[in-house]
Amino acid sequence: MKLVFATNNLNKLKEVQEMLPNSIKLLSLKDINCFDEIDETEITLEGNAKLKADYITHNFGYNCFADDTGLEVESLSGKPGVYSARFAGEPANSEKNMQKLLTALENKTNRNAQFRTAICLNIDEKQFLFEGICKGKILTKKQGKKGFGYDPIFKPQGFNQSFAEMTSSEKNRISHRGIAIHKLVEFLKDFK
Ligand code: IMP
Repeated sequence: MKLVFATNNLNKLKEVQEMLPNSIKLLSLKDINCFDEIDETEITLEGNAKLKADYITHNFGYNCFADDTGLEVESLSGKPGVYSARFAGEPANSEKNMQKLLTALENKTNRNAQFRTAICLNIDEKQFLFEGICKGKILTKKQGKKGFGYDPIFKPQGFNQSFAEMTSSEKNRISHRGIAIHKLVEFLKDFK
């Protein structure tokens, strides 16, 4: 089955491809000649995922899924959440985002946080939503060099390493996106 993953992020595409069975051939936006900038203007993760999946299905006619992820920090009332990519302003910059978050948490004892991924799947005229959550803590300084985004300052619950100290397959097994994609994959296996 051919399925578009509405993303330009090659890290994410690689992560997801590693989790999919061979029977599902993932197409990127580039593969379908979509070079449009799809603005994420909604105020929820689910809203943005739906907006992106709908854009591709309506304009390009493909079955498609899109995701949106946010880092929700308990002592910041769920921020940066849907605004995680541009927490420190435009253009998006992971180093600045991490610094801003570390500064915001400087005097906080509660460092609980969770990554949350929403996936919207449009398939054969129907729409389905999936969610994945990975709970953990924000470290006081960066640890590790792998991954992307906030990985060096996020330590998942039950582990002593940050996401940036894990291999991509270790991270995929427990990550928000891994969990949401796993739900998507299980659903697609049974979809008739
Ligand atoms: P996106 O919706 O997947 O593009 O995620 C939005 C932002 O959340 C990204 O720009 C990153 O800053 C952050 N983010 C998403 N997933 C991860 C992850 O697995 N590790 C670290 N940061 C992430």
